[in-house]
Amino acid sequence: WNLIAVAIGLLMALAVNFYYVRGRSFERMMRTAIANHDIVPFYQPVYHAEGALLEGVEILARWHNPGEGYIAPDVFIPYAERMGLIDSLTLSLIKQVQHDLENIIHLPVGRTVALNVPPTMFDKPEMIGALERFSGFLQQNGLRLVLEVTERQFVEQAETERISTFFEWLHRQGILISLDDFGTGYSSMGYLNRFNFDYLKIDGVFVNGIGSSTTAEGVLDTIIQMAQKLGMKTIAEKVETKEQVLYLVGRQVDCIQGYYYAKPVPVTELNQYIPIAAPI
Ligand code: C2E
Ligand code: CA
Ligand code: CA
Ligand code: CA
Repeated sequence: WNLIAVAIGLLMALAVNFYYVRGRSFERMMRTAIANHDIVPFYQPVYHAEGALLEGVEILARWHNPGEGYIAPDVFIPYAERMGLIDSLTLSLIKQVQHDLENIIHLPVGRTVALNVPPTMFDKPEMIGALERFSGFLQQNGLRLVLEVTERQFVEQAETERISTFFEWLHRQGILISLDDFGTGYSSMGYLNRFNFDYLKIDGVFVNGIGSSTTAEGVLDTIIQMAQKLGMKTIAEKVETKEQVLYLVGRQVDCIQGYYYAKPVPVTELNQYIPIAAPI
């Protein structure tokens, strides 16, 4: 029995060691990737539901690692948050977007550029400074910065007084705020009243239910009506079919984002999505 216990102990030590080493090397790999700008911004167009003119673009991080292949943001973003690398990643993306907008593509005046940010950013003066400068750069080019905060992270953070003061400051800077992944299961009605969100992004699960689930449609309709009453612009995410577009247009959703119109693309491919008023 002693022998078996020792063997099990040894195996566990090995496993822990393996995860530790792998974890460390993944962390190192990610640090290097961020420093070398190997994690790059892709851009996904967002269109007005009515007439399908370009409202703006959302920045989505992409990482093709030579050894590991494509690593999904759902994997490396939470990891970056845990390892304290999310700020340097965000700064790297901002830098690259500025470079793209100066050298490769000029977005038409009036469009938005949406950046996903963890609300922990709002606590850090140097990150706030970076957002302020980025917003200033965009405004010089006739564009507006939108910060996308997910419902989950926001609810975890929420320190009401401080956040509403911060939102007021953002609005004075001309920065807009978007509540991402709305409706994904966290109590949030209260937050909508308390905070002044400019956009509400309706999570793809509700869009997905169009035509197949009357429950999902009911929830979707309610979210849209509520956002309209509270004066928020609605963006439906992950819209993939014509049926979904027609349904959403019928419900007076403001904006549509999804593969139906465009996938996230590298900056070099963004041009083709700008002049078109995409037909339904
Ligand atoms: P998100 O902010 O909700 O982004 C929308 C996700 O839906 C993106 O996944 C996008 O590629 C995907 N998508 C867009 N249209 C469609 C569609 O029609 N159908 C389907 N099935 N999917 C669609 P992605 O790029 O894999 O990003 C996943 C999540 O990772 C994002 O969710 C966001 O929370 C996070 N993320 C991505 N880039 C960044 C970043 O630069 N910073 C931060 N903090 N988070 C990021
Ligand atoms: Ca987002
Ligand atoms: Ca989302
Ligand atoms: Ca999401």
